[in-house]
Amino acid sequence: MARTDAFIGLGSNLAEPSAQLARAVIGLAALPETELVAQSPFYRSRPVGPQDQPDFVNGAVWLRTELPPLELLDQLQSIEQDHGRERRQHWGPRTLDLDLLIYGNERISESRLTVPHPELPNRDFVLQPLLDLAPSLTLPDGTPIADLRSKCPDNHLRRLDPIASDTPRDYP
Ligand code: ATP
Ligand code: MG
Ligand code: MG
Repeated sequence: MARTDAFIGLGSNLAEPSAQLARAVIGLAALPETELVAQSPFYRSRPVGPQDQPDFVNGAVWLRTELPPLELLDQLQSIEQDHGRERRQHWGPRTLDLDLLIYGNERISESRLTVPHPELPNRDFVLQPLLDLAPSLTLPDGTPIADLRSKCPDNHLRRLDPIASDTPRDYP
């Protein structure tokens, strides 16, 4: 069966968010019938919705998968559960959020699944990691992600650079 390019958005603002994301990437890479193509850098962003919660860490991954969209969503929700995700408050704090952003050129409108993710144009913390992964990526209607990024509201995005391993350091 043909493999489809799928892009997943990752977010966390509880219980060591960067570690939550790193572990989620390992879980995504291990999904059946799925290959991890690339992972984006991570970013820190201000929360959307309720402001009385910690900043988020966000990123995205590029998968190539034979899983149909709803099966992929099941797998994403199962990884969220593994990370102790509880749904209490809409857009509230969470250990892990995995959203299916783009699934090939498909447009999906079902009760459990809307693809492309409807909030994509409003979220720099999703658009920027997508651009890092694939600068020429477009929506199914041909809109370049780069155009959406340039028009998107500012969520105070800051890239979390890993400490460069080639930086000389004194030891001990
Ligand atoms: P938002 O969708 O605005 O980012 P959220 O990620 O906080 O909000 P969740 O609580 O994670 O929302 O998910 C609520 C429901 O959204 C899920 O049960 C799922 O069925 C549905 N859903 C619809 N489209 C998608 C999608 N593209 N990716 C993930 N979940 C989706
Ligand atoms: Mg979400
Ligand atoms: Mg979600």
